Amino acid sequence: MKVMKFGGTSVGTPERMKSVASLLTNSGEQVFVVLSAMSGTTNSLVEISNYLYKKNPEKANEVIDSLEKAYMQHVDNLYSTEEYRNTTRDFLREEFDYLRSFTTELFTSFEEKNIVAQGEIISTNMVVNYMKENGFDVVLLSALDFMRTDKNEEPDSTYIHDKLNVIMDKEAGHQVYVTQGFICRNAYGEIDNLRRGGSDYSASLIGAAIDAEEIQIWTDIDGMHNNDPRIVEKTEAISQLHFEEAAELAYFGAKILHPTCIQPAKHAGIPVRLKNTMQPEAPGTIINSEKVKGKIKAVAVKDNITAIKVKSSRMLLATGFLRKVFETFEGYQTAIDMVATSEVGVSMSIDNDVHLNEIVDELKKYGTVTVDTGMCIVCVVGDLDWNNVGFETMATEVMKNIPVRMISYGGSNYNISFLIRETDKKQALQSLSDTLFYK
Ligand code: ADP
Ligand code: ASP
Ligand code: MG
Repeated sequence: MKVMKFGGTSVGTPERMKSVASLLTNSGEQVFVVLSAMSGTTNSLVEISNYLYKKNPEKANEVIDSLEKAYMQHVDNLYSTEEYRNTTRDFLREEFDYLRSFTTELFTSFEEKNIVAQGEIISTNMVVNYMKENGFDVVLLSALDFMRTDKNEEPDSTYIHDKLNVIMDKEAGHQVYVTQGFICRNAYGEIDNLRRGGSDYSASLIGAAIDAEEIQIWTDIDGMHNNDPRIVEKTEAISQLHFEEAAELAYFGAKILHPTCIQPAKHAGIPVRLKNTMQPEAPGTIINSEKVKGKIKAVAVKDNITAIKVKSSRMLLATGFLRKVFETFEGYQTAIDMVATSEVGVSMSIDNDVHLNEIVDELKKYGTVTVDTGMCIVCVVGDLDWNNVGFETMATEVMKNIPVRMISYGGSNYNISFLIRETDKKQALQSLSDTLFYK
C-alpha cells in the first residue's frame, strides 16, 4: 500500500479536493491518504485561539463566523446531491458550534490544541463525503485513535504501529483509507499535534507503521528544488536525494518537508516521493538510500537564528566546561543547531530564543557572553564526504564577500553550513546557486 499525503493547497478549494479524488481513482491501487486542513484554516484557528488567550471573544467569533461562511460555500461547490450537501452542512454546523463553545471558557493550551485540530477533522470529513457521493470504497479513520506522542513529546512509534495495525485488520479490504495529518493525542490522551507543517510527519510515521511501499508527499511544487524558490530566481526540481540529504534540507529550512519527517521513512527504509498535485505528470523527487558520488544537490536556509559565544576566562578544555555550557541549553529545552570551538571559547546557534535571557545569565558564570541576533543558517547539501576533495572549498569560495559568523563541516557527510546575517541571505543563496548549479 502507498501512503499519499496532500497538503493544504492540494485540498485548498472544492476543485482541488475533486482533483485529489480523481488522482486516487486513477491510481487504481489501495491507498492510505493523509490530509492537511484546507490552506489558511490552521492559521485562522490559531488566530481564534490568540483572540481567546487575549480574552477577546468578539473578535474570535468574527473569525469563526467568516470561516463558517466560507465553508458553507465550499459545500455548494463540492457536492452535487442534496443528501451530501445536507449531511456535510449538519457536520459543519456542529463543528462551528463546537468552536464557539470555547469563547465562553477559560483558555489554556489544552483548548488551543482542540481548536487547531478541527481544520484536519473538517477537511477529511469533507473529502470522504465527496468520495462517498462519487461511489468510492472509502473509510475515514480518526488519527486520534492511533497517532500518539510519548512523555517526551516524541511520536510513540510502537503505540502507533500496534494501534494502526489492529484498526487496519478490522477495516481490511477497502480501496481508500483517509485520515488527518498533524493531529494526535499526547501521553495523557489529550488532543495534541505534531507542530506546524506536521502532516508530512504524520504521513511518514503512518508509512513506517503499515510498512508502506512508498510515502508520497503531494504539494504545490514539482519536488524538492535545488534552492529556496521563494527567495532565489532560478531553481529547479532535483530528481533524487539520499534520505540524509533530504533530512538535512528539511531541518535547515526547506519548507516543502517538515523538519523531522524523513526520520521514520529512513528508519523503515521506505522511499519518499515528492509530487505536484497541480502537475501530476511531473516526475517530482524521489528520496531513497541511493548515494550519488561527488554531487552537490541543494541549498536551504533557516531563519531567525541567534548566535551565542562564550569566551572562557580559563582554558576551554578545562574539564567540564563544554558540558556545563551545553547543560545550560538543555536545562531550558533549547536545541543547539551549530557549534564551533576554539581554545578560548565556544560559539553556538539556536532557533528558539524563548529562554535566551535566562540562558545568557547562566552562561555568564563560565565566561564572557556575546549574542548576535537576526542571523540565518545557509546549508549546502550533497555528497560532502571529507574524502572528496574540493567540494567544501567550492562552497566556501562563493561566500568570500559575505561576513560569515560560523562554519560547520564534518558533523555529517552531507552538509556544510554557514551562519550569516539575514540581510546577506538573498545574495548568499543566489551566488551559491549561480556557482554550484548554473556555472
Ligand atoms: P503543503 O501545504 O503542501 O504542506 P508547504 O507550503 O508546506 O506545502 O510546502 C511547499 C512549499 O515549500 C513550496 O510552495 C515552496 O515555496 C516551499 N519551499 C521552500 N524551499 C523549497 C525547496 N527547496 N523546494 C521546494 N519547495 C520549497
Ligand atoms: N494544517 C497544519 C498546518 O498548517 C499541518 C500541515 O498542514 O502540515 O501547519
Ligand atoms: Mg507543509
